[in-house]
Amino acid sequence: MQRILACDDSEFVRKMIKRELESSFDVVLFEDGLEAYEHLKEDPNFDFAIIDGEMPKMSGWELIKKIKGELKLHDLPVIMLTATDKDFFKNEAFDLGAFDYLKKPFKTGELQKYIKIFFKSEGFREGKALVVEDSIAQNKTICHQLKEKNIWPISAYSGEEAVKKLVSGADIDVILMDIHLPKASGIDVAKVLKKDERFSTMPIIGITSASGAEAVEIMKEAFEAGIDDFLTKPYNMVEFHARVKANINRSKLMKKLKEESELDFLTRLYNRRTLFRFLEHLAAMANRNNESLSFIILDLDKFKNVNDTYGHQTGDEVLKNTANIIKSGIRKADVVGRFGGEEFCIVMPHTDLKNACVASEKIRETIEKNGIEIGGRKIEVTVSLGISELDSNDDINTLIKKADTALYKAKETGRNRSVAYKDGKFLSCQTK
Ligand code: GH3
Ligand code: MG
Ligand code: MG
Ligand code: MG
Repeated sequence: MQRILACDDSEFVRKMIKRELESSFDVVLFEDGLEAYEHLKEDPNFDFAIIDGEMPKMSGWELIKKIKGELKLHDLPVIMLTATDKDFFKNEAFDLGAFDYLKKPFKTGELQKYIKIFFKSEGFREGKALVVEDSIAQNKTICHQLKEKNIWPISAYSGEEAVKKLVSGADIDVILMDIHLPKASGIDVAKVLKKDERFSTMPIIGITSASGAEAVEIMKEAFEAGIDDFLTKPYNMVEFHARVKANINRSKLMKKLKEESELDFLTRLYNRRTLFRFLEHLAAMANRNNESLSFIILDLDKFKNVNDTYGHQTGDEVLKNTANIIKSGIRKADVVGRFGGEEFCIVMPHTDLKNACVASEKIRETIEKNGIEIGGRKIEVTVSLGISELDSNDDINTLIKKADTALYKAKETGRNRSVAYKDGKFLSCQTK
């Protein structure tokens, strides 16, 4: 989900923006330019910013100026949203680097549509490239060359900064890596990235200005480190674009393959194998750090009847909508997957049995109350949930088994309920 920064001193406007965007985006709100700026210095990874003009401590114009003047922030697309329609302020915003100027108030749906179109048009670009180059002038030149070929550049000025941007979730298709970086060299950074499961398939193009035997030696070392391709300066623009483009294509293909192998084709939740991988990792972490972790299995009640009454295709739609309800009812750190058939699982790190019970009941009640809407028709569906908590040194099979035992009890005692299982005892989660 794209992250959007919104900054406005009016509580009313903040609420309006949140209501407008929260269903499609991850919105983080700020009350003043200064507050937003302080936050951005620590956490720059936003995809879009909506900034008010007049604010008490730091105005929107000042904030835009700061954003555009700072290396790690200047790629952030900014629009100004303000009640002032005066040309002077509008031009000022454009001069400072805002790419649009919208007038408040906006009609419901308008802002959301605007941003969706923005991201869509961004998607028409050929891809996103992370440019890791310590020389500001060189970095700017490469970014410019990429933009001319419709490739969106993101700058990093050291290996450390590049890794930070990737870890915080920047969606990159290809990395252009200067080999001669201060501190860790491009080759060292590549070694780190290629060892990390999250980035190992991201193509890296090494760039060097070395020539002759030295260039050959560097190239050999770079390929050994896992760098995928190479450019030697000065390069020809046709070659530059051809190599970047070829690597972007490969990267997109890899992403697609990875997604297909990790997600369930119907609900687009994690599939069983991926869920197990996450569970294995999160349970090991919880055990090591002595932290709580809970696990929920959710099973649709009498789902066979839904298929028999409405047909298999509607049954599929019910499963998809159930997946969406579960997703919107959990926290970001929780991991949800389709376990198989009409069964879903939720892994909840840092959550004890009691809190997992509360979350479980919230999901159950939402489904009971609203049913599942398919093509304007409401289908009444209920779910049963079994909950377990990781005890010290439980392996994941034990954890799953306990949740399954609880689920069996929930079914046996009437369905449409949450039951937890701990120390050989069943606990009902019903609040009323
Ligand atoms: P219970 O309350 O005991 O869980 O009853 P149930 O009918 O939900 O359970 P049962 O295990 O008897 O049946 C599960 C049904 O789920 C049967 C199967 O056809 C259906 N099902 C499993 N996977 C899918 C799927 O991908 N799509 C559809 N439409 N149905 C599915
Ligand atoms: Mg204001
Ligand atoms: Mg079942
Ligand atoms: Mg069932």
